Amino acid sequence: MRLVVLGVVFVLACSSSSSGGCAARAPSGQVDERPAREQPVTAPGESDAETPAKFVPPTPPAMAERVQERHRLVRDSIQSSRGGRTPVRDPDVLRAMRDTPRHAFVPASMQSHAYHDRPLSIGRGQTISQPYIVAYMTEMLDIDENSRVLEIGTGSGYQAAVLAHLTPHVWSIEIVEALAERAKRDLMSQGYDNIRLRTGDGYAGWPEEAPFDAIIITAAAAELPEPLWEQLAPGGRIVMPRGPQGAVQDLIVIHKDEDGAQRTERHFPVRFVPFTRSE
Ligand code: SAH
Repeated sequence: MRLVVLGVVFVLACSSSSSGGCAARAPSGQVDERPAREQPVTAPGESDAETPAKFVPPTPPAMAERVQERHRLVRDSIQSSRGGRTPVRDPDVLRAMRDTPRHAFVPASMQSHAYHDRPLSIGRGQTISQPYIVAYMTEMLDIDENSRVLEIGTGSGYQAAVLAHLTPHVWSIEIVEALAERAKRDLMSQGYDNIRLRTGDGYAGWPEEAPFDAIIITAAAAELPEPLWEQLAPGGRIVMPRGPQGAVQDLIVIHKDEDGAQRTERHFPVRFVPFTRSE
């Protein structure tokens, strides 16, 4: 078994089973095939009420900083198959990784390591995940600008920020109040004002906002919390590290088929911080 040091997260071996979820997205612009005379005409300055506003990804101020380092990280560690890894290929995910300023989400003492492909301590015994794992899990979520996504484990706010480059519909829950406060501050200062944040135990999910098309759990749990399964839309998926705490877990993708049936894919071994419960 190959030992590759990776994530919140250490990937111990990389199976090549990255089947579902990696498919390239359909282009967002749909071709209107109706004859020209049937197409709706909108006068200049008048908005067409039936056309939803086009999603414009965020442009956080720190995006203009450390660009070369971020591009190098994506090229050498995320798109590459070095060490037997499955490369991340989805162009939208790669763009989100190039555009999200990870250095804006790590403590000052870790700044020089922000663009190394490693998890970093963010205090309170928690970590910001390794960039390759963030990108891989994001690709597995298979989201587009219409997807509603719930993250459990806001931590630094970095993963939520990456998601916000793909869809304006992001919710995230963090159980440690001090981390939730800091993530909120960092996200706000970078202009990520679309992400809905909540402090509390993510086990219960966010029922008022359900159903979600995709749910990402960024802490290791022995089993999928039942409320999260209930809050997943048919056709949706949950990406999570499943397994014992303090040991190696499996990175898995759980699909809910259109008929509500559950199907689980195992990807590769990882090591995440524990999923904790409120008292
Ligand atoms: N996604 C984060 C990585 C976070 S590490 C990032 O991008 O930085 C995992 C996080 O999950 C920790 O901050 C931890 O406090 C949080 N967590 C653990 N159990 C939780 C629970 N039950 N509900 C919400 N958050 C939880």
